[in-house]
Amino acid sequence: MSTTWHILGAGSLGTLWATRLARAGVPVTLIVRDQARLQAYEAQGALTLVEHGEARSYPIPAQTPDSAEPIRRLLVACKAYDAESAVAQLAPRLAPDAELILLQNGLGSQDAVAARVPHARCLYASSTEGAFRDGDWRVVFAGHGYTWLGDASHPVPPIWLDDLTAAGIPHEWSTDILTRLWRKLALNCAINPLTVLHQCRNGGLEAHHCEVATLCGELSELLQRCGQPAAAEDLQQEVERVIHATAANYSSMYQDVDSRRRTEISYLLGYACKAARRHSLHLRHLEQLESRLIAHLQSLGLPSD
Ligand code: NAP
Repeated sequence: MSTTWHILGAGSLGTLWATRLARAGVPVTLIVRDQARLQAYEAQGALTLVEHGEARSYPIPAQTPDSAEPIRRLLVACKAYDAESAVAQLAPRLAPDAELILLQNGLGSQDAVAARVPHARCLYASSTEGAFRDGDWRVVFAGHGYTWLGDASHPVPPIWLDDLTAAGIPHEWSTDILTRLWRKLALNCAINPLTVLHQCRNGGLEAHHCEVATLCGELSELLQRCGQPAAAEDLQQEVERVIHATAANYSSMYQDVDSRRRTEISYLLGYACKAARRHSLHLRHLEQLESRLIAHLQSLGLPSD
């Protein structure tokens, strides 16, 4: 009998993973926030994945965090700002050989989670897949992509990558996962806050070339100082390529603000600015960008952390 995947957070990515694993016959159990959410899920009875316009439902079992069942493999699919407290609730249930897969964007939440469960193995993921909820317990697979997984302190891949292969989840084991996460964070810092402040699609930043280039210069300096020279390589060219290739898209931060959802600012631009301060690096434009973004979020009555 293969090990059950406990999926913490039945949101966009949690559902995308849970449904694909379940349809491949891999045992999956959802962990939802509380009794009220469990009742709501049970009334629905299944998670629905919409792929290529076709909806399919999967009756995956669910439980609350206070269930007694031990957990050996936990996919953490909450937002970065919820991950630490959500995992802390489950700490007493983790088996001695438990492994956690952390799907959070940005940096900072992974260390916070790892500190809460020092005996568990924590693997980090960086994904270019895209999904969104178009209803409760219902997710649209919007962008096919790739997920890189790695363990910053242990280069040996886990055996359960076979489950991902069986489930058709495109993935690759990465021995430089921190470099990937830093690179993605830098791309996000150079693009997402500006799309919010200029109220534009990614392509709208082509009209703000100098501002983008200045930020890329400061971000490259930061990456070098943080011991991530590979993540700094040709950063500006890649940012420009992404802006061009995704010109018609709205960034995830733009979409969060537009839908009046909390952003993950503290784990993206906020993390970068904090790292700069820790290294006594004065990055004027990056700091100004953070102040402008915080002021903008506050002016809209949205959380700025
Ligand atoms: P999401 O749709 O908001 O889902 C988060 C889920 O976590 C929600 O269902 C929420 O429950 C649940 N949750 C929060 N606290 C919980 C707790 N204590 N116990 C149980 N469940 C809890 O978020 P997402 O878009 O999947 O994003 C997850 C992470 O993946 C983020 O860091 C994001 O940046 C990253 N990511 C997302 C995408 C994407 O396309 N969506 C792509 C790449 C990376 P409720 O339903 O009760 O609120």
